Amino acid sequence: MILEIDNTIGSEGLSNIRNAIENAGYSSRVIRGKDEIVLGIRGRPISQSLEEQLRHMPGILNVTRITEAYKEVSRRFHPADTVIELSNGAKIGDGHFALIAGPCSVEDYATTLEAANWAKEAGAAALRGGVFKPRTNPYSFQGLGEKGLEILARVKEETGLPIVTEILEPEDESVSLGGIIKLFEKYDVDIYQIGARSAQNFPLLYSLSKRKHPVLYKNGIGMNAEEFLQGAEYLLSGVWGESHNGGGNPNVILCARGVNTGDISVSRYPLDISLVPELRMKTHLPVIADPSHSTGKWYNVVKASLGLIAAGAQGLEVEVHPNPQQAKSDGKQAIGLEHLMQISKQGRAIFGITNSIPLEAVATAYYK
Ligand code: PEP
Ligand code: MN
Repeated sequence: MILEIDNTIGSEGLSNIRNAIENAGYSSRVIRGKDEIVLGIRGRPISQSLEEQLRHMPGILNVTRITEAYKEVSRRFHPADTVIELSNGAKIGDGHFALIAGPCSVEDYATTLEAANWAKEAGAAALRGGVFKPRTNPYSFQGLGEKGLEILARVKEETGLPIVTEILEPEDESVSLGGIIKLFEKYDVDIYQIGARSAQNFPLLYSLSKRKHPVLYKNGIGMNAEEFLQGAEYLLSGVWGESHNGGGNPNVILCARGVNTGDISVSRYPLDISLVPELRMKTHLPVIADPSHSTGKWYNVVKASLGLIAAGAQGLEVEVHPNPQQAKSDGKQAIGLEHLMQISKQGRAIFGITNSIPLEAVATAYYK
């Protein structure tokens, strides 16, 4: 619910409104100040009785129910773009372009370091590399686990690049999700990736909503935009039905990675390019895209990347490999240094153009 309030109300009148909200078990936040006062009521949808009470309070000009199934991720609640800053000073979101590059899986120290050096050369914000891999086939390589985290931490120390890796529920019942989070903390993982297979693992989302640690959240292979945004709402809200964990994680990056359409004759997981501006319009969260898992083909990655940036992506997560034929996973979609440099150079130029198109104005028109 959004309340528009007469800006001559004075502090006592405003406190009365905020107290009424609080007494009913909700919290509010000021969305805009100065010339107009706009308050957002957080948490679950508000009751009819509170709505009636508020409608009749002095100073309230307008009461609007939010029709979307999400609040905290919505631009209506949070008009300004979210920016996430990493340990190396790189920023993700708003007018910053963030390239995240690295191997699909961390395989050994040497290839990870080489990929990291490429990423650095391309001006990447961070290095990616999976150590807990969610594989379709149980016989496939499942990642190096803790040994992979050790390698990532070592490469981070040597290159200064922050690290991004996927967090997965452990297959070993004696290790809890809390145990995995502790491991991630031990190796100082900068961004916890929630992969497509875990995108609707709601207990996992709820756990990561208790921490403010940056999360890279990828859409599930069968999720539409609304479901994706509701998944992100778990992270941002810290809400689980009637309860609230007192947290809520504002540091979430969305990554569009395509969906399973059943047709792989061209792309592995077709990525609707217009999903990118749609998400940018609806949410203040940084939106990046994955040209690797979506195309599934190394030779389409450069052009798809440039197209996604033109559509408004504020960054890309790209898989690279020094020796794709020997890669333990996703070698077919891994690019080399030359292509990565091309994405970096031309992508940044395109970003400069699209970033000047005012999305905020589009969002305003949509919500009126
Ligand atoms: C990945 O990025 O390592 C990955 C497995 O991607 P997704 O979860 O999008 O399939
Ligand atoms: Mn991969």
